[in-house]
Amino acid sequence: MKFNVHGGHNKIVQGASKFLNEVTEDRKVKNEVIRLLKLQGHTVYDCTDDAGKTQNDNLKNIVKKCNAHSVDLDVSIHLNSGGGEGIEVYTYDNGTKAYATRICDKISKSLDIKNRGVKNGKGLYVLKNTRAQALLIECCFVDSKKDSSRWNAEKCAKAIVEGILNKSISTPTVAPSNEVPYLVKVANVSKGDTLNVRAEPSPNSRLVEKLKYNDPNKYTIVETKKVGSQTWGLLKGYSTYRNGWINLYYTKKVQ
Ligand SMILES: [Zn+2]
Repeated sequence: MKFNVHGGHNKIVQGASKFLNEVTEDRKVKNEVIRLLKLQGHTVYDCTDDAGKTQNDNLKNIVKKCNAHSVDLDVSIHLNSGGGEGIEVYTYDNGTKAYATRICDKISKSLDIKNRGVKNGKGLYVLKNTRAQALLIECCFVDSKKDSSRWNAEKCAKAIVEGILNKSISTPTVAPSNEVPYLVKVANVSKGDTLNVRAEPSPNSRLVEKLKYNDPNKYTIVETKKVGSQTWGLLKGYSTYRNGWINLYYTKKVQ
């Protein structure tokens, strides 16, 4: 399947904030939702807007990005505020009701927060103006002490993906932290070929950089992830927002 996913608001036009900051947390959820959907073999476009200087521009930019792709579902990720508690999902029409119902159920169970259910979002700009089917998730309330104490962006993202795909998924486990950091060099790469640095630990992920087969440098691996039979390593110097992963099969440990 094909998906558009975005986090609401941006650093310039902030969303809600109290015990949690909406923009900070919706980006974490968005990144993990994208990573998990891709690991399940789906095509995902990140339609998050970090440039809009007004709320209107932000919304317009998001819709423009969404409508540039033909997808099965647009997923908008927000956090709520205003004195309530729990998860609620907004839909434009009944086409996304099943997804929304499952997402509410999964998040409510996973985070142990109230299930406020599926709400009518016909008036919401993003839902009204996106061409594909769309839903907007208000993951929890940033101004609820209870919600924020139970908040976990990774768990929330997993619940969203399981709700979308209507199945349980396993997330790749992280190798023991006592293994990292360590140094590697490029190895096992045929003459003339390159070792690709990817945005996520997956061969289908966006290409960030290419390392030559005879690259003489030593690279520090700060995190490892097992994905199927392969182990991927995160290179030092890349942040959460600019990941750089390599398949460690094509490296040699040098220290
Ligand atoms: Zn919001």
